[in-house]
Amino acid sequence: MIKENILKVREIINKAAKQAGRKPEEIRLIAVTKNVPVLKIKEAIEEGITEIGENRVQEFLEKYPLLKEEKIKWHFVGYLQRNKVKYIVNSIDLIHSLDNLKLAEEIDKRAKKVGKVQELLVEVNISGEESKYGVKEEETISFLKSLAFYKNLKIMGLMAIAPFVEPEKTRPYFRKMRELFEKAKRIKGENFEIKYLSLGMSNDFEVAIEEGSNMIRLGRAIFGGV
Ligand SMILES: *Cc1c(COP(=O)(O)O)cnc(C)c1O
Repeated sequence: MIKENILKVREIINKAAKQAGRKPEEIRLIAVTKNVPVLKIKEAIEEGITEIGENRVQEFLEKYPLLKEEKIKWHFVGYLQRNKVKYIVNSIDLIHSLDNLKLAEEIDKRAKKVGKVQELLVEVNISGEESKYGVKEEETISFLKSLAFYKNLKIMGLMAIAPFVEPEKTRPYFRKMRELFEKAKRIKGENFEIKYLSLGMSNDFEVAIEEGSNMIRLGRAIFGGV
């Protein structure tokens, strides 16, 4: 099942990339494994998955030791509480959900302590929904600039979650993200290397890729439930 799902996902990635005049291999596929048992994660890894995303610190901490030997990259895609940063900073390759300065300060401090530069994305609340985390669209660029002084952070791009609506209706949100992304790329600074746009989940990744996403986060499309 996982095997077939991944094949299907890769087909859609190929099609959407082609549609957008881009190369499929430029699009990083993250398997989001919340509520997915380790055995199934290992199955996905056997089918070629190389990047795993979790959205809760507790769950990540339970699974990480069991998957430590695997050659995979780890993403933290969920809301991150400041007091939990210390538990993940050692082992997470990319944090997708930075959206406030106090959190930036804490990640910087903890990264420094373990002698690491933490790569991260800034999460944008592109729909303006109150239930969503992320910086406001209009504050994104100034927020990014305010991160220039944190030497142990490396800002790699932007992330957003579209509203859960018909896929086609997510397009305007992804377009706005693409515009922000292009602006963000022009920010100068040693700790900026803006190159990732993390957009697209099981429901809407085809549209997201067409609109410029180069990092998609899929749970149900890979592990079932769609
Ligand atoms: C759960 C989750 C996903 C994956 O969602 P699916 O709809 O299962 O593909 C992606 N991103 C974040 C931030 C998530 O929490």
